[in-house]
Amino acid sequence: MNVSFLGLGTMGAPMAANLARAGHALTVWNRSPGRAAPLVTAGSRLAATPADAARGADAVVLMLADPIAVHSVVDGPDGVLAGLAPGALVIDMSTVDVDTARVTDAKVRERGGRFVDAPVSGTRKPAVDGKLVIMAGGDPADVARARPLLEAMGRVVPVGAVGQGMAAKLVLKGLGAHMMTGFAAMLVLAARLGLDLGAMLEVIGSGAFSSPLYTSKGPRMRARDFAPDFTLKLMHKDQELVLATAAANGYAMPTLAAIRDVLAQAIAAGYGDGDLSSVVCLFEDWAKVTVR
Ligand code: NAP
Repeated sequence: MNVSFLGLGTMGAPMAANLARAGHALTVWNRSPGRAAPLVTAGSRLAATPADAARGADAVVLMLADPIAVHSVVDGPDGVLAGLAPGALVIDMSTVDVDTARVTDAKVRERGGRFVDAPVSGTRKPAVDGKLVIMAGGDPADVARARPLLEAMGRVVPVGAVGQGMAAKLVLKGLGAHMMTGFAAMLVLAARLGLDLGAMLEVIGSGAFSSPLYTSKGPRMRARDFAPDFTLKLMHKDQELVLATAAANGYAMPTLAAIRDVLAQAIAAGYGDGDLSSVVCLFEDWAKVTVR
């Protein structure tokens, strides 16, 4: 396929590289053009604007920071819509909100195109390895058309109509916050009770509660390695979005609200720029013990 990839940040650049590697003819665009250089050197075409990127493309993939970026790249003066070919597919892989996905879908359809929202689970390493988990929302025929592209970047799980990809991503974010905070809180209790933390991690990692999250974060907490894969500050911001979406759908979530408040306290205590696992430092302060 002729594919255009817009947004070559931490995640977008390796995802686009995997599309090129899978044999698709790749055009790239990024707001700061310097970030496109490695892909252009490797043979991709550099588009001057999002409209230029969309012209003649069978599919346009977006991997942008937030809803403001998506709106400006899609329907700004030289936006994707200005160049979109009839029948072309727009796939938004950015993490945005359900409404942004639905609004983009409506605009794309008005121009005769088709839309799939396909946010991802996984950080830079799975993006490089083509091992992201991709939650695809859209008409089944559109998701089927997107599948060969998405499979170059990871594993596709269709989750429903347009917007449901973003909804699934919000559910995942809320689950991640519960898991990370619960794990950190209980490791601190283990330390407080004088348990051998190596043995405790072995028990957690080999029983019914085992999780790759715990297996990777536990030893790093003990080694005091809080270099961010994903910052605590961002995890806090995401929970505001999850809570607002839940409330808008008539669901109050007291446990998540409590977690959001704990994360806010961790930020106030100076742990916001560390990895999300640095929430453990707040519990350590409270319990006067260190997870080592
Ligand atoms: P990033 O490195 O910050 O890249 C963001 C991209 O958006 C860059 O290409 C940036 O362009 C572009 N952008 C920002 N504002 C823009 C605007 N107003 N107009 C046009 N382009 C704009 O972010 P990332 O880590 O790749 O994340 C991309 C998306 O994936 C986000 O929605 C994020 O939540 C989601 N995500 C990230 C991870 C992760 O671990 N990093 C994991 C899962 C999902 P410039 O280069 O010009 O700034």
